[in-house]
Amino acid sequence: MAQRLDPELELVLSKVIEPYTGLDIVTLGLVRYAKSGWGKLALEIGLLSDPYELQEELRHSVEQSIADSGSKDKVRVSMSPLDEDELELVGNHLREALTEDEMSNLEQRKPIFSVADSKTRVLGISSGKGGVGKSSTSVNLAVALAKLGKKVGVLDADVYGFSIPKMLGINQPPVVLGSFIVPPLANGVHCMSMGFFLTEDTPVVWRGPMLHKALEQFLVDVYWRNYDFILIDMPPGTGDVALSLGEMVPKSEMYVVTTPQPAAERVAQRSAYAAKKMKIPIRGIIENMSHFLTPSGETYEIFGKGGGEQLAAELDVPLLGKIPIEIALRDGGDIGIPISISDPTSESSRAFSEIAKKIVEIGPPRRYRSELKIR
Ligand code: ADP
Repeated sequence: MAQRLDPELELVLSKVIEPYTGLDIVTLGLVRYAKSGWGKLALEIGLLSDPYELQEELRHSVEQSIADSGSKDKVRVSMSPLDEDELELVGNHLREALTEDEMSNLEQRKPIFSVADSKTRVLGISSGKGGVGKSSTSVNLAVALAKLGKKVGVLDADVYGFSIPKMLGINQPPVVLGSFIVPPLANGVHCMSMGFFLTEDTPVVWRGPMLHKALEQFLVDVYWRNYDFILIDMPPGTGDVALSLGEMVPKSEMYVVTTPQPAAERVAQRSAYAAKKMKIPIRGIIENMSHFLTPSGETYEIFGKGGGEQLAAELDVPLLGKIPIEIALRDGGDIGIPISISDPTSESSRAFSEIAKKIVEIGPPRRYRSELKIR
């Protein structure tokens, strides 16, 4: 498939990043054909999927990179989807680009991001029960972290209702490249959902071992490379997924979403204790649906008051922020444009942005080292 390129052109095209994989189009072998002469440059670029949502974005980066090189050639870029054999080859290029440590992890069925010097932080977003806004929080927090310039992915592991792709505006299934599954991207955030692989009308009864296996596949087989943050939308309640996560990603951290009423806070507490038992440190609490602000400026505490503070005090962790009830936040989830994108100055967008900054600031948890234990 990919043609051997003129070294100068190769250098120029190697600056063009394919957005799903984060690798350049030369390394991936996407440049099928290049011909220049008589003031013209004709290029043919292979696409990772059909349709490929980011086609125009990719075309623009190719044209931009050529313009930046000072070339005055008239550029014509044609694009068409790769066939199955070509996709397999791209999968090989993905593997070849791995470091030795990443490769060794893969061979041991460990996530490629859990190498010793990894910069990837894995944040479990959990709640005691459904409906408190855990998925909305995961999506908006992910967008807020991406806006800080971080590479962010969300893994939708809430098996009781996969809602992340829709809330994030993902319109494209993941791309399978050789042995890797590459997450699609929307609103600056990559997303993988176990729901992509199920038909909507198939009810699935998830038992512990099945969940464990699914989580393993979604951590190991998905191309989570060079991410700063992977947020995991956990199923509500205590449980199996936290147990598996603690085992597979020893450095993961947990954030608990609760509503302000005391009964909800007690339920959230149970999920927090479960995480603690699995040795996943709880790093902070996020209170959602804290209050409702009317257009005339009155504040109503519809779901009561104090739950976030109380839970934070009980667990001795910070309350990272309070998200108000906003109709636009719900709307954003329904239409797939998160409020953090559609209305960045809204009260909830600002709250998410503050929480994201605090999470960056507190840094990764320290690894527990038994030899440092004081007796
Ligand atoms: P969970 O993941 O905890 O089940 P969701 O994030 O799916 O909860 O939220 C449940 C519903 O409540 C969704 O329709 C969502 O849009 C809405 N919602 C969540 N948080 C807010 C909020 N702060 N303001 C308005 N609507 C919200």
